[in-house]
Amino acid sequence: MAGSLKTEAIVLRSMRYGEADRILHLFTPERGRLSAIAKGVRRAKTRFGGRLEPYFRLQLVLYQGRSDLLTVTSAETIAGHPRLREHGAALDGAARACDAVGRMFDDHDAHAGVYHLLANQLALLDADPGRATRGNALAFRLKLLLAAGFAPQLAACAGCGEGDHLVGFSGAAGGVVCSACEATGFALSQDAHDFLVGALARPLAETPDAPPRALAQADRAILDTLEHHANLRLRATA
Ligand SMILES: [Zn+2]
Repeated sequence: MAGSLKTEAIVLRSMRYGEADRILHLFTPERGRLSAIAKGVRRAKTRFGGRLEPYFRLQLVLYQGRSDLLTVTSAETIAGHPRLREHGAALDGAARACDAVGRMFDDHDAHAGVYHLLANQLALLDADPGRATRGNALAFRLKLLLAAGFAPQLAACAGCGEGDHLVGFSGAAGGVVCSACEATGFALSQDAHDFLVGALARPLAETPDAPPRALAQADRAILDTLEHHANLRLRATA
């Protein structure tokens, strides 16, 4: 299987390795998550020009030898997202987005939709770092659930199919629940329900706003869903 692989990638993590090398965790459209080593990064700064850092979107050429670890042979910047790096909340939003993607998918688990979602989120945060709100972080997680096939059921009770009196949310049931099924979940306000529906339906750039209490409930609904269906424990967004 030795040979070269040309691919776009987003750098999820970049770790120092030995004297002068770096290990990169990458997310790619066609091969999902993969790891690569970049040799001599600190000795030959000009070769990669400091672009092997988290949140860079790159065009890479990787060499695949006999080991599982690929070697970076060339890297060109598609988007470096410099503005995002100067804004604490945007940087935090980018870190959360990359962490969630890196932990949700295994190596070689390809999801082109997830790649483009992550690229879109980084581009939005860079174009306007002020977008890095709790609502934006929650909308990203919801869309990530949707892309992975775990979007919560929001139109009817996930327990019994009832369309009215949807007053709770249950990660175990897989979505909103009615008053009769609420024992399996927690109370969800109308504002929180509306936020989840709006955030899922609208583009990432048009995330609806909601009162802090509603966002806290939406956050819990998303965390419960991730834990029950994707086996993933993330921190709350605030
Ligand atoms: Zn029900």
